[in-house]
Amino acid sequence: MPSNSEATALAKRRLYENYKPAPFVLARGLGSQVFDVEGRRYLDLMAGVAVNAVGHAHPRLAKAIADQAHTLLHVSNYFYNEPNVRLADTLCRLSGMDRAFFCNSGTEAIEALVKLARHHFYGLGEPQRTRLVAFDHAFHGRTLGALSVTGTPKYREGFGPLGPVTHVPFADIEAVQREMTPDVAAILVEPVQGEGGVVPAPIGFLAALRDLADQAGALFLIDEVQTGVGRLGRWFGFQGSGVEPDAIAVAKGLGGGFPIGAMLVKERVAGALPPGTHGSTFGGNALASAAALAVIDILESEGLVEGARSKGQYLAARLATLVAELPDVCVAARGEGLLQGLVLREGILVRDLLPLLQERGVLLTAAGDRVLRFSPPLVVTLAELDEGVEAVRGVLGSLARNRV
Ligand SMILES: *Cc1c(COP(=O)(O)O)cnc(C)c1O
Repeated sequence: MPSNSEATALAKRRLYENYKPAPFVLARGLGSQVFDVEGRRYLDLMAGVAVNAVGHAHPRLAKAIADQAHTLLHVSNYFYNEPNVRLADTLCRLSGMDRAFFCNSGTEAIEALVKLARHHFYGLGEPQRTRLVAFDHAFHGRTLGALSVTGTPKYREGFGPLGPVTHVPFADIEAVQREMTPDVAAILVEPVQGEGGVVPAPIGFLAALRDLADQAGALFLIDEVQTGVGRLGRWFGFQGSGVEPDAIAVAKGLGGGFPIGAMLVKERVAGALPPGTHGSTFGGNALASAAALAVIDILESEGLVEGARSKGQYLAARLATLVAELPDVCVAARGEGLLQGLVLREGILVRDLLPLLQERGVLLTAAGDRVLRFSPPLVVTLAELDEGVEAVRGVLGSLARNRV
């Protein structure tokens, strides 16, 4: 194995520099831990940004992928494949939706939602309904359609013109109401804004949006890319809100690290994209489907969805204690299940803290400028959460001492 500095030197010469990765190269993982090429251990409390739901190198996920690789990888969408049909059925059972369309990422799942909304009304003879209503600081992905609904100016800048979308403040129901004119095709929302700073939707917000969409004859779409597949302590974020979306987007945790995305829809919009109108070469591939089936099977049999709720409560309490102890550096803790954020005081940038945490052997991410995000694997233990919180306490504690 090369050293970290050898491996990063080649990366700096050959990789397109649209990212700014850490100065070490990860080589293997186990559960909630990863190891770099020099053998150094890191506690992974970000899980590849809410992706590695069952942790690293889970033996049952690895075996399912290997077995399927020895059986059938890919056949195209000219044919059914058995793991894919079973996955569609399983996802519908867990979500209460009726049908699944498969793709390879979150942005593609959002792209499918946007095309579904437009084409639904085109098919109904209402082609003027093209506009979407979305929220400030929403993150929905990077392709042009998904970017048009993403509500963070720095991601959008320089890529216009983007599709007709109006962004309004998250949780501002009156602002949504003002936008619901007859050209609106759909409202799109995250149950907890992830990249936007780990901001849970207030109680009643999703139900109010559903009502506004119904009154205006528009669709109601939910982005479950970060919140779905058990992360919030329930299978999908919208569950428990009493509302039923017309369609949802799923990805990230679904494949446990294998790329797969899905759009799940209710029967009433099942005809919006008839054959020939939308598709994906790799989407619904047998290997990706087998991986997702294994992830769901592991989450169910190991009780990891209920675990995300109880461990999330534990983590939230630990973070609330940090806020009480270090009021000069952190101001609030918020989130649901195993998607939790620690809000830092104005002027402290999370991205400056991440390298300090890495030096202490803990991997975390920023959600916006000021929120330190915890999105650990659902197999994380309470001891590992303690270890992560202690590392954060260490870094924030020295910051607090330097500020006085
Ligand atoms: C990550 C994310 C996306 C985009 O998913 P990709 O797989 O990166 O394309 C979309 N929506 C939400 C809420 C996300 O967190």
